[in-house]
Amino acid sequence: MTTFDYDLVTIGAGSGGVAASRRAAAHGARVAIVEGRRIGGTCVLRGCVPKKLLSYAAGFADEVRVARGYGWSVDEPRFDAARWQAAKAAELDRLEQVYRTLLSDSGVELLPGWARVENPHEVQLEGWSEADFGSTSGTGGAARRIVTARHVLIATGSSPVRDSIPGIEACATSDDLLDLAELPASAAFVGSGYVAVEFASMFARLGVEVSMFYRDTLPLRGFDALLRKAAATSLAASGVHLHPGRAPERIEPAGDGWRLHLPGGAEHVAPWVLNATGRRPNTAGMAVALSPTKGIAVDEHLQTSLPGVYAIGDVTSRVNLTPVAIADGRALVDALFGPEHRPVDLRRIPTAVFLHPPIGTVGPTEEQLVASRRDFAVYETSFRSMKTAFVGAKDRTEFKLLVDPDEGTVLAVHLSGADAPEIIQCLAVALTAGARKADFDRTLAVHPTLSEELVLLRAPSRVWRASEGPRGP
Ligand code: NDP
Repeated sequence: MTTFDYDLVTIGAGSGGVAASRRAAAHGARVAIVEGRRIGGTCVLRGCVPKKLLSYAAGFADEVRVARGYGWSVDEPRFDAARWQAAKAAELDRLEQVYRTLLSDSGVELLPGWARVENPHEVQLEGWSEADFGSTSGTGGAARRIVTARHVLIATGSSPVRDSIPGIEACATSDDLLDLAELPASAAFVGSGYVAVEFASMFARLGVEVSMFYRDTLPLRGFDALLRKAAATSLAASGVHLHPGRAPERIEPAGDGWRLHLPGGAEHVAPWVLNATGRRPNTAGMAVALSPTKGIAVDEHLQTSLPGVYAIGDVTSRVNLTPVAIADGRALVDALFGPEHRPVDLRRIPTAVFLHPPIGTVGPTEEQLVASRRDFAVYETSFRSMKTAFVGAKDRTEFKLLVDPDEGTVLAVHLSGADAPEIIQCLAVALTAGARKADFDRTLAVHPTLSEELVLLRAPSRVWRASEGPRGP
């Protein structure tokens, strides 16, 4: 029988790779994880975590304004980006240490360096030193360039796209934004996906004048129209200048800043530009077949074109969300080393966009249901929240439920309003359990809350029959 150095070698110590490695070790596998940078990956070091810490910082701008309406006297607040930056750096150091401890306590060996995969069962290591490996390789102390494994898991994530528009390659990305110790007075954002929308909403609250340039008519392509309109409304209300249908054709340096060449010959000059035009899978050095989206192609068992080599997370460019990478990674190693195999159900992926107020969503959009020629009923409500209506704010909370009109199953929930990400996480449990509208109806309300409105929706605002089109109540 062939012997290998490890049962599993994972490449990439981000959220997916770490979760899969620890679960595999818990099943008794001999596991190593290769990482060329810090431990934690995009989510912990350059994405979700620092982003949410900045979002909390931005949210205090609203809280101070609202507090005044509630009778507080508050001096003119001022955000000190350098202080936030120092506190964030300390917190990320702490989290990285937590990850290191979790790995070592689980018995996962850390192999510092960069990996290449050209053959099944072999991982070539580069960018390491004798000191990194001499005493830790577990095979007699000699530093090696190749480790062998029964299974190899590629979890190398993704990086910001840098060539979407001529000239954009030298502009800042979300990685750079999160490292700023001083914020620009004004900024141009290119794109209108998760990153653009979240950071525009934050920057506006932190005192930056933001202009957002994008090619569609509304931000957040792919989300339900209700949420896309709500995002545009709340961004505009925050002072963000929206430029739909005006993605730059090229960008060039201009003095200390940048000149955006817009469609129709117009120009916009900004001292700082955020390239928020998406991310690309980190596939360099991986000799496996790619999918049409340029991610690593995997089958339903997450296996790549090389036998025994698997891939999860952003590098597969399927669903680029941390919880999906973690769930896929754990399911994979359960199948490889554990007693049971439970595939991940990706039919209902809850997700949130952390603009202010945030968005929470689970299930298909109304537009997707129309396209799939499915019958459905729409229940929706729009209201001003008690908290902000009290201070005269105009912002509205928007809820939409999409329901199968015959069986009553709730197909989707789309929310825009305070705490929407927290609410959607709980509702995702209900939808996964197959909740019907009748279950919502017989659930008692918690009063006074925003989310009680979800169990008080009585009549549909329209019913869509594929054979007839939409009908009013
Ligand atoms: P997205 O894929 O969400 O959005 C990319 C944006 O760039 C879109 O607005 C797109 O426009 C635009 N774009 C792409 N190419 C061009 C081009 N050539 N010219 C003009 N515009 C262009 O990417 P993000 O960078 O916002 O986020 C990356 C990923 O990170 C997301 O897919 C998401 O999975 C993850 N993420 C998740 C978060 C969360 O869960 N809260 C937060 C942040 C990121 P168009 O719409 O017209 O195609």
